[in-house]
This record gives sequence, structure tokens and C-alpha cells, in this order.
Amino acid sequence: KAKNVKGYAPICLGLEDFYVRRLYLRIQDCFGRPIASAPDSWFDVVERTSNDNNKTLQRTSNTTRCLNLGSYNYLGFAAADEYCTPRVIQSLKKYSASTCSVRVDGGTTKLHTELEELAARFVGKPAAILFGMGYVTNSAIIPCLIGKGGLIISDSLNHNSIVNGARGSGATVRVFQHNSPAHLEEVLREQIAGGQPRTHRPWKKIIVIVEGIYSMEGELCKLPEIIAVCKKYKAYTYLDEAHSIGAVGQSGRGVCELLGVDPADVDIMMGTFTKSFGSCGGYIAASKEIIQHLKHSCPAHLYATSMSPPAVQQVISAIKVILGEDGSNRGAQKLARIRENSNFFRSELKKMGFEVLGDNDSPVMPIMLYNPAKIPAFSRECLRQKVAVVTVAFPATPLLLARARICISASHTREDLMKALDVISRVGDLVGIKYFPAEPPKI
Ligand code: PMP
Repeated sequence: KAKNVKGYAPICLGLEDFYVRRLYLRIQDCFGRPIASAPDSWFDVVERTSNDNNKTLQRTSNTTRCLNLGSYNYLGFAAADEYCTPRVIQSLKKYSASTCSVRVDGGTTKLHTELEELAARFVGKPAAILFGMGYVTNSAIIPCLIGKGGLIISDSLNHNSIVNGARGSGATVRVFQHNSPAHLEEVLREQIAGGQPRTHRPWKKIIVIVEGIYSMEGELCKLPEIIAVCKKYKAYTYLDEAHSIGAVGQSGRGVCELLGVDPADVDIMMGTFTKSFGSCGGYIAASKEIIQHLKHSCPAHLYATSMSPPAVQQVISAIKVILGEDGSNRGAQKLARIRENSNFFRSELKKMGFEVLGDNDSPVMPIMLYNPAKIPAFSRECLRQKVAVVTVAFPATPLLLARARICISASHTREDLMKALDVISRVGDLVGIKYFPAEPPKI
């Protein structure tokens, strides 16, 4: 039936395909759960039983304890740390778990202002504002920056929080081909001139939104080229660094540092504390004027309870370790380790014949499974052999581009990675997802 639907072939690879989505939901209904989480193929509930920086997971339903290749624990800060943990406990005793107040009405502690200054200094912008959740940072901030009469041009693979923020803003939204500066320029030219000579600019404001590392692709943003296009057409840039801040760059300052971009050339820098910093919440860093505007106008700042003080303290301490301000060189070691681990793991997977997406230095490593039917088999077999791998499928990816997504951490040892490679290689043979021969066939 689907083949009779006009335009089926091209649309079925897109996220928005109505027919594929309906079909998929019907199949899910039959199984009573998302297809990707077939019985025994994933952890429904986990228990932390060890103090090893979230490196292992344990199912509550049995005693399986696995090497964790799924969490965004890039620098290994997600658990006990000799510098962070005592300070977090101290802040819990001093401030308790919640301020029970919004920022403007008694919810601002010294920790909140300290983190705003530190986050701004860390990413190289004049000021910053905090939010209790990374998702809300995008979805609540974008509507405060742009509205009706404005134009958002968004990368086709941007995160759902950006998509929702853009939709909720009332601005016109256009999408450019993933990570393609050339297509971005085409869209901008079309939107500004509409193919006609024009004497005025038809949009009040244009914002181009991209991610530093794409969370389902492991790919680095082509930021220098995108910034050049934005400057040419006088568009603002909005960069989501959820997966790149703390994880890449010589001193952990994200894709700007890695790609040699001056942070002054990015208008709005967004990031989350839920990955490299082992905490929760998000930030926007920008000019003093923009941050002041957000502090006065953003409902998620004015009406939401402020970030939990111990969570704020965790981020402050983690940034201090990264910057070496704890008096040790553990930060530099962690950064060197995540780079080494990521590059080693990616190149070994490729040598084995897997199709691995993404760029060097990126700790996000999707292994292509393509066929959604291979998902449960892949994750169940890995789990049986004590390696926990996250699998991602429609609607988070196009239907036929299912994948397993590995997240490498600085806390993985070489021994851990060798064990994981061995398991993934065997399971890959079993499930049939090695698409390239590791060595040329012998004739
Ligand atoms: N932006 C991107 C690119 C993300 O991948 C995510 C979540 N992984 C978020 C924003 C939302 O962040 P959080 O999980 O901290 O709410």
C-alpha cells in the first residue's frame, strides 16, 4: 500500500512522513512497546551499584552488570569524584536539594551567580543565564529571541528541543540540508531575495540554528563555513553545544576551540550540564544585552524554580577540574583520555568493517544497523555479553537508518574498550551488520 502513496520513496526517509509514522505506531501498538525496546533488549530500570563513574549499569530485574557504552558521561563526572563530590555534599547540607523558589523571588544563591560567571568565562562570552533543564533551555529560549516576522533556518537534524522551540516561536521556520553550508546559503538567498531583486529585507530577524556535535550522527558542525555564510547574509547564529561543550577542544571549550572559531562570532551559545559535567540543567551564553533581555522576559527564568544548588555546585566543581583550578591536572588528563578513547574506538570499529558515522574526536559513535528489525537482536546480544549499548530508531532517526549509538567516556579504560570491541565484533557478525570487509577479499 505504501508504494502507492505518491512520493513514498523520498518521503519515507524523512522524519515527518505521515504514513510511515502511522504504520510504525500501529506496529508498536501490537507489541505494546516501542519496537526498539523488545523484551530483554534494554534496561528498563537500572540500579547504580558501583562507584565507578557510571561506567557500569545493573538491571534491577536480575544481576546483570554491564559495561556502559550508552550514557553521555563524557568526562566521567557522573558519580563520585574526589573534588566534586565533597563539595556537592557540602552544598546539599548548606542549601538543601531545592531552593523551592524561582530565580527572581529568592531562588538565586551565591552558587547560581558563580556558575553564570564561570560558564560565561568558560565558553568565552560576556554573560550567561541558567535553566533547570537542557531541553527547556532550547524550547523556552528560542521563542524569546524571535517571533512572528522572523525567520529561523534550522539544520535538518537538529534536536527535538530546538524543533519545538522553533515551532513555538511563531517565526517562519525553514530547514537546510544537514551540515551543508552551501544549502544554507541557497535557503538564505531564496528567503532574502526570493529570486527577485528586492530593495528591502523581508524578515525582521534571521537566526540560523546548528549543533556542535550532532547527537544521532556524531558529526562535528561545519561551524567556520556556516558562520561565514551567516555573516554574509547578516543572520544570527545559535549553537547548541549539548554534546560538545566539555567533551572536545584542547581545554574542553567545545567546537569553537576545536575548529578555531572565535566565540565572539557565535551570537548565542547554548549548552547543557547533563553530559560532560555530570549534572543537570542548561545555559545560554551571549552578550550582556541578550542575557539581560532573557532575564527580564523568559518565562522559564521568571516562573520556574531555579536549578538545584547541589546540581549547580557539581557543574562549578567539574568546570574547575577541567580548567585545572582544583590544583591538579586531572582535567587535562580526562580531556586527553576522551580524545584518545574516541579516536581509538572509532578506528577499530571501522577496521572491523562496521559503518560508523561521525568525525574524529567526537565521542558519539553511531554504528549503522539500517534495518530496524536488527535492533533488538543487536542490543539483546550485547547485553547478554555484558555490554550495554543504546539503539536508536524511528522517529528519532529516519525509518531505514536505525543505528546503535556508542558514547565513549574518559572513564573507560583501554581494557574496557578492548572488551567492548570484542563483544561488538562478535555480535556484529551474528546480526550481519559489518558492511565493509575489514581486509580486501583474497582472490
Ligand atoms: N540539545 C541536544 C542537542 C541534545 O542532544 C539534548 C539531549 N540529549 C538536549 C538539547 C536536551 O538536553 P537535556 O537532556 O540536558 O535536557
